[in-house]
Order: sequence, then structure tokens, then C-alpha cells
Amino acid sequence: MTLVVNPGESISMPMLYIITPTYKRQEQIPDLTRLAQTLMHVPSIMWLVIEDAEMLNPQVAALLRRTGIKYLHMLAPMPKDQKMRKVKARGVSNRNKGLQWIRENFVDQNGVIYFADDDNTYDLRLFDEIRSVKRVGMWPVGLLTSYGMSSPVVKNGRVTGFYDGWVANRKFPVDMAGFGVSVSMIIKNPKGNMPYVPGYEEDGFLRNLNVKITEIEPKAENCTKIYVWHTQTKKNKAPAKVNATIHGQDNIWTLYQQII
Ligand code: UDP
Ligand code: MN
Repeated sequence: MTLVVNPGESISMPMLYIITPTYKRQEQIPDLTRLAQTLMHVPSIMWLVIEDAEMLNPQVAALLRRTGIKYLHMLAPMPKDQKMRKVKARGVSNRNKGLQWIRENFVDQNGVIYFADDDNTYDLRLFDEIRSVKRVGMWPVGLLTSYGMSSPVVKNGRVTGFYDGWVANRKFPVDMAGFGVSVSMIIKNPKGNMPYVPGYEEDGFLRNLNVKITEIEPKAENCTKIYVWHTQTKKNKAPAKVNATIHGQDNIWTLYQQII
């Protein structure tokens, strides 16, 4: 991927494949608006927006078109047997669909993959860090568990362990927002997918990719900076029905169609 900086001048930078799982709810458009307007500042990206739904949300489609970002809008509904479970592995079908697409269609061997959930908060400096990943990069994530953060432990420039409030037997106790992997790793490990195991999505994926602790590249100034936060948008109650007799012919009806 070649990026034109100024007329006549161009530099080459690895493509970032940003995989965003999303699903229809009242908070979807506000969350995606914030993420889209962050990504609009990031050069050389391909944004894979993958809906856990049976139908593409036309409001998401319109939002994506307006951004000017290079994107792909796809569907990956959660399998029925998973949907029935009390605790669900959220966003797994979406992320695996994104991985499959990259394996089949990648254009940049030097590209890097990042799972960007629709509700997190991203500092623009994060994307420079992701882009420099050679195999597996990791960095701190804020607003997680009672520890208030999750991060690799770094000593003398090397990852020696993990600081995370919920280790639970995981080899890689990290959050989805806390790592990026190279396209080449994904190509080399065709079975490197994410399992439908709530709480173990990250760990299972990194294990399936055969990642070794010794090859983790600590980013964000040796994991001394927080460039991403696990913010969560409060779930709002379903909106009251608009009375069509009163508002059927005015703007309130138009607005109502957008929030349900
Ligand atoms: N998600 C999804 N289907 C669902 C629930 C969530 O695709 O049924 C997506 C959601 O939009 C987000 C990601 O999966 O990008 C993680 O979900 P959520 O933010 O609800 O999980 P949490 O951050 O609370 O673990
Ligand atoms: Mn979330």
C-alpha cells in the first residue's frame, strides 16, 4: 500500500486491517460514529466492519460510505447454538469472518491486524504502534477489572509476564484491544481462529496462532503508556413508542425510525 503524502511525494506504510465486530442496538450508531471519526484520522487502513446480524444495517452502511475510509461491510451472525447460551462469546463469529477474509484477500504481507471493538476509546498514537508490529505486539489497556488496567509486565525491554485482574489459567491474560498480529502470522497459521469460549477468546486465539511469550513486542513505550480504554456505553432502555396518530406526519416519526 502506497500512501501519497504530498503531491509528488509518497511513502510506503504497512496496511492496518481493523476488524470491528458490531451488532444492532440503540448504542450502535453513536458508538460507531465515534470510532469512525477516530479512524478517519488514520492513514493506510482497511476497516472490516462485521455485523452479528441477519441483515446489514442500512444506517451503518450510510455511516461507512460517508467516512471516505476504505472499508468492507459484512455479516457474520452468531451461530444459533451459541446464541442460546447464557454467557456468550461476543463478536467471535464476526472476528473469525474478518480473519477468513484477510487470509483470502490480503494485499499487504507486511500488514497488521487489530481487533477494534465498536465501544472502546482509541488514542490516535495507538495506530502508529500497531503499524510497527512485526509478529505480535502488545500494549496496555485502561479501564479493565478492579486493577483499572491490563498490561504486559515489561522489564529491560522484554515481556516477563502479565498484570491483569482476571488471569484464570490463561497463558495470555490480555484484552482484545491489547494486541495486534501481523498478516504473515495469520497466513502462516491457517487454523489460528478465535474459540467460542467466553473469557478465553484472546487466549485461545493467541494459542491457536502458536505465539510464544518470548516473541511478544512490547509497544507504547515499553508498555508505559495507555493508548486504548475499554470504555462501555451504558445500555439504554428501549425507547417509548411514538404515537403515530400524533407524529405520523412529522419529523418525530422520521427520528423514531432511526433509533429502533
Ligand atoms: N458484539 C457482537 N454481538 C453481540 C454482542 C457484542 O457482535 O451479541 C460485539 C460488540 O459490538 C463489540 C464486541 O462484540 O464490538 C464486544 O462486545 P461488548 O462490547 O458487548 O463486550 P465487552 O466489551 O463488554 O466484553
Ligand atoms: Mn466492549
